[in-house]
Amino acid sequence: MSDLPALAPATKHNHARCVRDALDTAEAVCARRGARLTALRRHVLELIWRSHKAIKAYEILDQLAGEIGAARPPTVYRALEFLMAHGLVHRVDSLNAFVGCADASHRHDAQFFICDACGTVREIDDVTIGRAVSRGAERLGFEVERRMIELHGRCGSCQ
Ligand SMILES: [Zn+2]
Ligand SMILES: [Zn+2]
Ligand SMILES: [Zn+2]
Repeated sequence: MSDLPALAPATKHNHARCVRDALDTAEAVCARRGARLTALRRHVLELIWRSHKAIKAYEILDQLAGEIGAARPPTVYRALEFLMAHGLVHRVDSLNAFVGCADASHRHDAQFFICDACGTVREIDDVTIGRAVSRGAERLGFEVERRMIELHGRCGSCQ
């Protein structure tokens, strides 16, 4: 299990650094895969990284709408698809919203801890959970198509 910085408390950290790291990682990941992080894709990623809370697609559209030359919804949805495909953002199914990946440099299954008070979403990447799920699926002869492990509750700051 990797000890991700995302587990640090949401408050009292240098968020500008989170954003900078996320954008640097995105550039590196795209360069390595020969994918293009266009200005819009980068911008959508930045909007998602404004906080550690999950953001809904319409909120991204709303924020873009205030800008000159705002992108049309299909373009924004395609940008989101791209960011998800490259593991730069995750979709939090139970919130129907998106959150920046805290460790996008390698592919992983993520497990999410979602604070219902402040909305902060933290991820861990614990391979033993993934393995346990795979073992269970094998035992049941179950073909897993989507994996979401999302836990709701109160974060350390909100308890
Ligand atoms: Zn941060
Ligand atoms: Zn992740
Ligand atoms: Zn909280």
